[in-house]
Amino acid sequence: MGPDQKQAVLQKLAKLREEYRASLPGVLEAIALDAQRLETPATAEQLQSLYRKLHKLAGSAGSFGYPQLSAQAREIELVLQGWIHGSEPDSNTRLQLLAQLTALDCEENVPSSTAVQAEGFTVQNIGTTKNLVYLIEDDHSVAQELTLALESFGYQVEYFDQLNEVEQAILSRRPDFLIADVLFSDADERGPQLIARLQNQLDDPLAVVFISSHDDFDTYLSAVRAGAIGYFVKPLDIATVIDCLESQLSLSAAAPYRVMIVDDDELLARHYKVVLEASGMRVEIVTQPAQVITVMESFHPEVVLLDLNLPECRGYELAQIIRLNPAWLRVAIAYLSSEQDEQAQAHAVRHGGEDFLTKPISELRLVSAVTVRAARSRQLSDAIDRDSLTGLLKHGRIKEQVNVELERAARQNKPVSVAMIDLDHFKTVNDSYGHAVGDKVIRALSQLLRQRLRKTDSIGRYGGEEFVAVLPDCGPESAQKLLEAVRESFAALGFSVAGEHFNVTLSAGIATAAGPGENLLESADKALYQAKHSGRNCVVTAGEPE
Ligand code: GH3
Ligand code: MG
Ligand code: MG
Repeated sequence: MGPDQKQAVLQKLAKLREEYRASLPGVLEAIALDAQRLETPATAEQLQSLYRKLHKLAGSAGSFGYPQLSAQAREIELVLQGWIHGSEPDSNTRLQLLAQLTALDCEENVPSSTAVQAEGFTVQNIGTTKNLVYLIEDDHSVAQELTLALESFGYQVEYFDQLNEVEQAILSRRPDFLIADVLFSDADERGPQLIARLQNQLDDPLAVVFISSHDDFDTYLSAVRAGAIGYFVKPLDIATVIDCLESQLSLSAAAPYRVMIVDDDELLARHYKVVLEASGMRVEIVTQPAQVITVMESFHPEVVLLDLNLPECRGYELAQIIRLNPAWLRVAIAYLSSEQDEQAQAHAVRHGGEDFLTKPISELRLVSAVTVRAARSRQLSDAIDRDSLTGLLKHGRIKEQVNVELERAARQNKPVSVAMIDLDHFKTVNDSYGHAVGDKVIRALSQLLRQRLRKTDSIGRYGGEEFVAVLPDCGPESAQKLLEAVRESFAALGFSVAGEHFNVTLSAGIATAAGPGENLLESADKALYQAKHSGRNCVVTAGEPE
């Protein structure tokens, strides 16, 4: 997270604290008033009202910098609980409690720190700009081949043939990746040593990939110490190098996690929202339990944080409602409540949610707890919807997506195109180099497609070596141009196995529609058939004369 973003988050948190601080005297006054009005013996209603206020205070005060007040409220809350479930206490205990209640004071509870903690935050980099690669390599032919391949995958490459030039460049403009040779003919220092030294000057380590003709232990060790995420021995298999960068990117550029917070304490929910959003997540707040279903349907959260004590129902009842719908099975549900009673916690966990987080919770712990659960939910989702070799949507899901986009296009009166793509003579690739190499080619194409298509496009693995791309708001000319560029880049991509180089080509068929009811997949398939017939390595748009 850059300093400006961090500042903005801290300002938002400070503003919420200020709001909380302003509301606190009113809250404490209401508690004192409740205490003064307690009859002898107290009615169940009076006790419940007081209990709810204290419970809420215990949960929120800690998050807004009043840990002492939170602890005091918690202490009284426990006594009250005994009162509610037992009998009227003796007059001494009663007096003591009333004194404690009226003594709750925000002035003496000076916030523990004026600055909000910020270590829990890391903002994910979700840019649409090209990823920048610095390539340091003194062998010009290797550099040229690698540069061409990287550029065809949409990377921006800056080339350095001297090790010492790169230091200044990194410090003035940070790249997304550094690809470096190990030995340089005209430098005393080796690549890994220089890069390790550079990494020490940086706050966040750079992702470094080494390309080298050495494969001895010492070089590997020095590479790891320089922060290597990949190490490739020459002669390079360029597709594998790109695969390494792509995997790293798909980790960091995945869509933000979606989190729904259900809490009737809106200020506290907003505090959590700011904290989670600062870590790159998207957050929706629900304060009315009845809204839960609508938000589940429209927002598709991956993690649900449930308060336990809500106005109309209990948190675990909401968890049960969510669990009634099999479509929401992959959603992680955790309680986030100030309930301290282990029995009540265990009961809640047995009845719907999976986990119990207690308020007050530190920013760091909140972010890490939600991240772990979101990642798990995403993993489960991907395992269900995505193909394991390529990470693209499976056959059924991409077919669904065609219909979804057709309907959307009709609603918005916009075109939608579907492309069917098939590798040429792929059987020969498998027969000549083996199935594993064939798999690598399939992965390379899927990565190229991901790079070239927009975020709003969907890509699926329709069959073994057959792919479908759904391109909303894209007419026939743009689709043809896009697929033509993909075809060209893919044909230029060199593969190598045991020193032998080869290329693979693809054919594509495109169909465009502006309304529902059209069988776009069938039309695209026919166009693909034409492409195969007219010699392969080409793109055909349906409806065009052959
Ligand atoms: P054409 O240009 O007409 O498409 O010829 P082709 O050889 O690509 O087409 P064909 O449909 O005859 O063969 C497809 C081959 O793709 C056969 C199959 O073994 C291979 N294949 C399918 N799925 C996979 C996979 O997941 N991995 C690998 N390595 N090969 C696969
Ligand atoms: Mg084929
Ligand atoms: Mg095929």
